[in-house]
Amino acid sequence: MDLFEYQGKQLFARYGIPVSAGEPADRVDDAAAAAERVGFPVVVKAQVQVGGRGKAGGIKLANDAAETRQHAENILGMDIRGHVVQRLWIEHASDIAHEYYASFTLDRSAKQHLGMLSAQGGIEIEKVAETDHDAISRVHVDPVDGLTRDACRAWVEGARLDPAVTDDAVDVLLKLYDVYTKGDCDLVEINPLIVTTDGRVHALDAKVTLDDNARFRHPEWDEFEGLEKLDPREREAAEKGLQYVGLDGNVGVIANGAGLAMATCDIVHEVGGRPANFLDIGGGASAQVMANALEVINNDPSVKSIFINIFGGITKGEEVANGIVQALGQVNIASPIVIRLDGTNAEQGRAILKSHESDRLVSKPTMVDAARAAVERAGSAT
Ligand code: GDP
Ligand code: MN
Repeated sequence: MDLFEYQGKQLFARYGIPVSAGEPADRVDDAAAAAERVGFPVVVKAQVQVGGRGKAGGIKLANDAAETRQHAENILGMDIRGHVVQRLWIEHASDIAHEYYASFTLDRSAKQHLGMLSAQGGIEIEKVAETDHDAISRVHVDPVDGLTRDACRAWVEGARLDPAVTDDAVDVLLKLYDVYTKGDCDLVEINPLIVTTDGRVHALDAKVTLDDNARFRHPEWDEFEGLEKLDPREREAAEKGLQYVGLDGNVGVIANGAGLAMATCDIVHEVGGRPANFLDIGGGASAQVMANALEVINNDPSVKSIFINIFGGITKGEEVANGIVQALGQVNIASPIVIRLDGTNAEQGRAILKSHESDRLVSKPTMVDAARAAVERAGSAT
């Protein structure tokens, strides 16, 4: 789960990381009142889960109530790269001397945590990495040992920050490591981590991704739910426990396994079509899961054909085929379906499907044939 900036900052504050005083506001009046309490000058900040808000005009400085109202009016409802602003964060403005970058995430290949720190903050770290690899100081942390103060100091010294703030930066970064590990995060990022003109180290932005697998031990995460409007298709899929990502094509895709689901999207592209979604139903492919998947796809008005791509493994071909047939009985499907069934007992599975075939339901033995058939049907349906 991704947090909004203000939620990330509230989490940071609990671990002692310095953040500016601020308040959320959903309406212009509330923004002005919040600004009075926070103290001018304030920064009016769009709360959307997408970067580059500053560049998009979603972050504005206000010196008084009238300016706050003006900016709040402009920013509320603004569309920032597909995210509509429903909430603002009003915080006391900081005087910035330096903008740095700091983050922790998991380096899966190293099987260790990775901290990244750069004196070139404020801009996207990918750009920094591209132009100057050495501008980023990295530290690998063995999760068993944790981040020692000495290792943290060496990391900070490697980043060539203002030497006057070394001690404070070490403090903040040790706390950030605590947020990341004790807080069960997949990612914590501060960009920019600033030094104020009076020499304080301070988080000016917050990007936090919580590890959903740790949900069971964090009842307090309930407060972070909601607000951001999910794609309605993604919301429905999430409620059904499906791995779904909405895309903008018209071929609905159902596959078992994330790799196969991605390959299915690829091959739809390859033969000239566009997938409406990525959907991984997992290994089981039971009738109920298949019915759930078909329901989600069926509720997407842009879907013109459905491509079911299943590779039988532990779940045998005939079980998959029976699952599909049962699911078709449960859901009234609007679009033609093309099925590619392979793997364990594929022959038996195809034999079962055969007796249900029609111009609305066809089975193809290979991925590419099935993709072509699905794309063709999507095209002829428009
Ligand atoms: P992002 O664009 O979504 O990453 O939003 P940020 O919160 O990182 O803000 C973008 C930029 O706005 C920062 O890099 C700062 O340059 C500027 N900014 C944000 N807050 C303040 C503030 O309190 N004072 C000043 N002077 N600039 C700020
Ligand atoms: Mn930022």
